[in-house]
Amino acid sequence: MKEKQVLTGNEAIARGFYEGGGRLASSYPGSPTVEIMENVKQYKEVYAEFSTNEKVALEVAIGSSFYGARSMVSMKHVGVNVAADPLMTFTQTPINGGFILVSGDDPGMASSQNEQDNRIFGKFANMAILYPGSSQESKDYIKEGLMISEEYQIPIMLDITSRVCHGRGIVELGPRIDKVPSGFTKDQEKYTMLPPNTFKAQYFMKDRLERLEDYAYNSSINVLEEVEGSETLIITSGLVYYNLKELELPISIYKLGMVYPISIKKVEELAKKYKRIIIIEEMMPFVENELRLKGIDCEGKKYFSFTGELQIEDIERGLIEAGVISGEVKDINKPKIISRPPMFCSGCPHRPIFDILKKMKVKVMGDIGCYSMAVLPAFEAAHTMISMGATVGITKGMNKAMRRNGDDEPIVSVIGDGTFFHSGMTGFANLLHQREEDDNMTFIILDNRTTAMTGGQHNGSSGNYNESEDMHISIKSILNTMGHEDVVEVDQFIYKDIKDAINNGTKRKGISIIIATRPCALKYKIKEKHFYVDPNICISCRSCVKTNCPPIRMIKYDGIEKLKSSIDPDSCVGCSVCAQVCPVNAIKRSE
Ligand code: SF4
Ligand code: SF4
Repeated sequence: MKEKQVLTGNEAIARGFYEGGGRLASSYPGSPTVEIMENVKQYKEVYAEFSTNEKVALEVAIGSSFYGARSMVSMKHVGVNVAADPLMTFTQTPINGGFILVSGDDPGMASSQNEQDNRIFGKFANMAILYPGSSQESKDYIKEGLMISEEYQIPIMLDITSRVCHGRGIVELGPRIDKVPSGFTKDQEKYTMLPPNTFKAQYFMKDRLERLEDYAYNSSINVLEEVEGSETLIITSGLVYYNLKELELPISIYKLGMVYPISIKKVEELAKKYKRIIIIEEMMPFVENELRLKGIDCEGKKYFSFTGELQIEDIERGLIEAGVISGEVKDINKPKIISRPPMFCSGCPHRPIFDILKKMKVKVMGDIGCYSMAVLPAFEAAHTMISMGATVGITKGMNKAMRRNGDDEPIVSVIGDGTFFHSGMTGFANLLHQREEDDNMTFIILDNRTTAMTGGQHNGSSGNYNESEDMHISIKSILNTMGHEDVVEVDQFIYKDIKDAINNGTKRKGISIIIATRPCALKYKIKEKHFYVDPNICISCRSCVKTNCPPIRMIKYDGIEKLKSSIDPDSCVGCSVCAQVCPVNAIKRSE
């Protein structure tokens, strides 16, 4: 009997890559795909790395595929935007070692800044797109994808959604195929994407997609389930298929494991047998548009939401509205859950920074990382947030517009160390270009020595705090080398020092850069002796509460009428920030 395990979609992808003879996997951490690389690392046969950003991760995988090694790169959907430049040219080449790009899409934006549907990106980049809906399929499609990639010399996008990444299912394990890399043979036409090679590549890409359409006609990856008497055919894919099956409807289903290219011949044949074709898919009407473009009469998005996940009740409602099944269209009464915004951890080094910025009432350009939470209550102390590394250019642009409008207010920008290395550095290089006397920008680099938001993966400066992380890049040295002179390093747990540094930076014209040096409390498990409140000294001013550290709350002490501050000793990590903001010294460190 075959060995079985309960795996998440992410774990199953890692396993599939191992079983499929994968040799190199690279990634940049981001939800919902971060655990793929965490799991690939257990297989010693595979070289695995978290690279500096998605573009670099892709380039690493390209090099390995050029050598004929089976390669995989994984990232969240917006990461593909960062990798897009090399991707759009690499995908013109005839693939040597099987190549898979895993894109983690996020319908409903559970942990992302947008909801882009990367099936469109996959088509745009001339890739074939596989779309798993369960853990077993996640594993199987990776293996199938590596095979298709080599046979058709086509790059594969495995487009997976967050619920499939994190959901669990039983997966049958198999042995590893040891696929020896074919090596790199010099071939300018194949690997050098300049005209006239690129002209030929256009025809090559068209041809391989047409050949793959023939494969799609009979492939077991696309499953046809016909029900006698059904007048409607539902075409669907991914997790939506499994949600649809829960309804146990007597309707025929064509489940696409490969959503691009689709065998139009197959769908045309089916269209002759059915009165209606209904497409059920999350996010954009991708399959619907593909079929419409080929003249196939079908319906879809007019009954189903263009945004968010399609759950069982959404599918049922859409099919009732479409008149495919009977029943009453019910209002979906989702249970009322009190919203609880995410919070900075106890002793998080970001907290004193945002406490100060909030009190200063200054404009703050935010970026992507744990510190994105500063946008939310209770701080609400960051006022823009677009994409990784964007704060630096945004701050410069706003600064230039402000000065030209006679607005001399200072402007502050925050960026983490991981984000600095990912894509913030180029912004800092650009800052010095066309400097003007009136510029007044203060940049705070929150160097907590880890990529904390995604679970503490290493980045360029992690090795400064933890030797085993092996990269020891000094952000200050990089900035000095670029020509930035006003760069100071400050320990933000010395509240007065960081407050003075930010105050001085914002008052002074020019470009001021403050590197806040405290490492992540969670990653480096910082735990000092806890603090407590003496209720007889406390004047109930709530200054400590406003630092928003989870262990602090106002309580009723025996014999004291007014509410006074209190600290939960178990969750306090002893960072001392609350003690430093208390005006009457009521907060003390335990013995
Ligand atoms: S010392 Fe104060 S601010 Fe620091 S972790 Fe404890 S309660 Fe929070
Ligand atoms: S800051 Fe000090 S005085 Fe104010 S509530 Fe907290 S413990 Fe009490």
